[in-house]
Amino acid sequence: MAIISNIGTRVELVPMDGHFHNISVALYRQADTDGAALLVHTYSARDGAGERIDSIAETMVTLGGLERRPGNRLRFPCGSEHALAVRRTFLEAVKLDLSAPRSAHPLTTVDRKSGLTIEVDPLGDGQYRVRSAGDDPDSQGPRRVGVIVNGLLKLGDMRRVVSDEDTEDCVAFECGCSHDALVGLLLVRAPNVRAIVREQEAMSARGTLSAPSAQAD
Ligand SMILES: [Zn+2]
Repeated sequence: MAIISNIGTRVELVPMDGHFHNISVALYRQADTDGAALLVHTYSARDGAGERIDSIAETMVTLGGLERRPGNRLRFPCGSEHALAVRRTFLEAVKLDLSAPRSAHPLTTVDRKSGLTIEVDPLGDGQYRVRSAGDDPDSQGPRRVGVIVNGLLKLGDMRRVVSDEDTEDCVAFECGCSHDALVGLLLVRAPNVRAIVREQEAMSARGTLSAPSAQAD
């Protein structure tokens, strides 16, 4: 039996898994022979907890385009860590409605605020262009594209790409590799990036409140 001698550093925590008896599940970063890898883990000894962990890891493979490594670890095929994006993938995988089909998100979404359809075109070399499609009577397209570009930059730790036309609708991953599934996943949350950043801050604040005496009550 494989024994995990050093589980690594915890990078994300869901204190209560609403889909499985409110157990706590966490994502750990481990040093690997060829870079870092991630491990989904719980300390719960409940029957079925192992299967639940396996299901979360498999959902991360589908939603984020990660790949399985020996020892149940996960990694992006490009070898980069994409630390922010992988945490988001973990959070979304734990939250996912179990009755929903488990499939990668498409590179298109409806922006609820404007009603516009937002499309993301892969340009190769890890670059993506965001554009709006459909009727735009109030000319909200450019502004909403800007919001979504900003969301992708923040959630995916992507960088801006200055195009020849001097537009600000292109983003890229530093690794220079395509991550279509990951962009589809981030795109769902990108229009609402401020709420997401707030949620992340609240979660990391909770994560540091380990000693009861540190909690204000
Ligand atoms: Zn990459």
